[in-house]
Amino acid sequence: MLSLDGLPYRIRSKIVVSQETGCWLWQAWVSEKGYGYVYFCGRNLPAHRVVYELLIGTIPPGLTIDHQCDSKHCVNPENVQLCTASQNRKRAASVPFVEKLVAAQHLYDMGHTKTDITYELGISGRFLKSLTKKEI
Ligand SMILES: [Zn+2]
Repeated sequence: MLSLDGLPYRIRSKIVVSQETGCWLWQAWVSEKGYGYVYFCGRNLPAHRVVYELLIGTIPPGLTIDHQCDSKHCVNPENVQLCTASQNRKRAASVPFVEKLVAAQHLYDMGHTKTDITYELGISGRFLKSLTKKEI
């Protein structure tokens, strides 16, 4: 079972674990659609994605994660599943550019080199010039 211990305090402190369901309920800002959000890497990002990436690993660009439990503001990585449809490749190619930049900044913050990021995301190196080191 995963533990909250791997999360930065800033994030961990916003989660309450439901003893009943095992859900990790997000206590900070929740969007109109019901998803938790956290200010991370200079942006507001869906909290369940951030927690997933911190504890499990990078979500490949273009993939979504779907909740398997009933709480959209649940951020337990064990309660979500990567959406791995057969159209992954097609979807990855159609990822909005801005989303790739978000992913690029995230990878950069996690310590990946710009060369790695260019390769992983398939975006031109000249766009990576805009990446900056930010405190996580
Ligand atoms: Zn849950």
